[in-house]
Amino acid sequence: MLHVDPDINQFVQDCFEEALAGYSPLHDHTIHLRRKYLKDMTMRAQPMVNGGFFRKSARAYRVDIQDHTRINESVRVPDLPQRVLVGWFAHELGHVMDYHQRSWSNLIKFGLGYLLFPTFRVGAERKADLYAIEYGFAEAITATKEFLLTESSIPNSYKNRLTRYYMTPEEVEIMVKKRESGTIFRDRII
Ligand SMILES: [Zn+2]
Repeated sequence: MLHVDPDINQFVQDCFEEALAGYSPLHDHTIHLRRKYLKDMTMRAQPMVNGGFFRKSARAYRVDIQDHTRINESVRVPDLPQRVLVGWFAHELGHVMDYHQRSWSNLIKFGLGYLLFPTFRVGAERKADLYAIEYGFAEAITATKEFLLTESSIPNSYKNRLTRYYMTPEEVEIMVKKRESGTIFRDRII
């Protein structure tokens, strides 16, 4: 069940719905898309801490977005190309898929690890991308990464941070190929 704040732009909502449609395990869960000022990020996905938090089956999730990208006030989220925005949401929902598999105590450990250890963050970001690839968004997340890495108005410091914490488009391609060859292998043994 999707709840969208009324001040979310229709195009942004459409892109979010397109990404969410691909993640069938999340369709029974409450997902809240909220516009919010975020200090040092453009988007974030979190489990909602309420009565449902303690039971995986009842857990609700929230994706916060702000109007502009954190990278550059002049790059506005509603102006991003459609594939780029769908890919970005596919990554955020990849985090939700990761949370979805975790118990509440594991989620608390995860939250602390993310805050305290940079290497933990690298693992979490890769996991979100791997879910996106698994659910058919390889092309969209590649579009997002290529846009952020090549757009001239985006500062180099941000591009460096991206390559430090996130999979590069080349790594996504390698993961897709590995997955494809894995599928062929499974087919052969069956
Ligand atoms: Zn992320």
